[in-house]
Amino acid sequence: MPSDVFFWNLRTTRKATYEVRLRRLLKAADVPETVRSGDLTAVKMHFGESGVTGFVPPMWVRPLVAFLRKIGAKPFLTDTNTLYVGSRGDAVSHGLLAAEHGFDPLLLQAPVIIADGVNSRNETTIPFSGKHLREVHLAGDILAADSLVTLSHFKGHELAGIGGCLKNLAMGCATRRGKMQQHGCLAPLVHAQNCTGCGACTEVCASKALRIAPQGKIELNPELCVGCGACLHSCREKCLVVDWQTDVTAFIERMMEYAAAVVHSFANRRETAPGCVHISFVTQVTPQCDCTGYSDKPVCPDIGVLVSHDPVALDQACLDLVNAAQPLHPSHLPLDILAGADKFRAMHPHVPEDFGLGYAESLGLGTRKYRLREI
Ligand code: SF4
Ligand code: SF4
Repeated sequence: MPSDVFFWNLRTTRKATYEVRLRRLLKAADVPETVRSGDLTAVKMHFGESGVTGFVPPMWVRPLVAFLRKIGAKPFLTDTNTLYVGSRGDAVSHGLLAAEHGFDPLLLQAPVIIADGVNSRNETTIPFSGKHLREVHLAGDILAADSLVTLSHFKGHELAGIGGCLKNLAMGCATRRGKMQQHGCLAPLVHAQNCTGCGACTEVCASKALRIAPQGKIELNPELCVGCGACLHSCREKCLVVDWQTDVTAFIERMMEYAAAVVHSFANRRETAPGCVHISFVTQVTPQCDCTGYSDKPVCPDIGVLVSHDPVALDQACLDLVNAAQPLHPSHLPLDILAGADKFRAMHPHVPEDFGLGYAESLGLGTRKYRLREI
């Protein structure tokens, strides 16, 4: 049976403003069935890496927060620390960057809480029975919430092909250790030639997997390393880095397993409602994700906002709408790409044809069949 995906094409009028139309969309999608009075509600989003302009802007988030507060919920805006060294690698830098990008708690009436804590150690590990994973490592304060609203910016992604709701659930709700696990990166790559022997990394490695060898350079014991990623941010000389070399299909499947773990965890809490609902902004559809440090020109015009309780149907609907849209040239898109062609595979040809949505279906995350219900 197809899932309902509710869609607003961003048209407004003097009377039916952005706020009015967004409220209508959220009501049509029955968000109050999922988010209830008294809920601590995690609004999982991306505040944008430094230099990025494509993220969903705070003034567009404010009416959502107002809607949730009117239900009686207590929403907080949240994200997790990154694997890579950037401006969001710890909760202090991350929180400051969110403020710099306008995510002001007083303005939005919702605080920013980095859900995996100051240094990504606020972690809840839950068992999972998947093809790749036996357990997943998720941000403690996302799992501590009563309900979850994902607010995703739909765009391209260098490794996964698309970055939408499922990626937001998977990579976005994982701690640094969980992100390493999805990348299939069980230990950091060590470039010891630049090591000064300062010892900063050995201090953060709780597993004692790092030591300064007698010749004064860092040495990793892979048997002891648990892949927590804590050391990646400790080395100023960039001696400890993420091993990005990974099998893309396996990477995407691990991502889907993480997304399933998050969704199932919320679904299991309430008998009568799914516990999470998903909103995607198909605006500023850039070729790369919001972690890259820049936003290239979008590959199609702004399309709209979509809401669904089914993250697979939602990503599929966003994908179909972008592919059907007129391409914008010049852009990162090859010049021969016309409306109807697969824009994301044209830009990221290394990804599987269905972007892992078939595997997500097989995990019970949802269905690729959907009914687009325009408000
Ligand atoms: S990833 Fe974690 S366990 Fe492994 S070396 Fe780094 S800090 Fe130690
Ligand atoms: S932090 Fe970097 S430079 Fe310092 S000991 Fe560790 S690897 Fe070497």
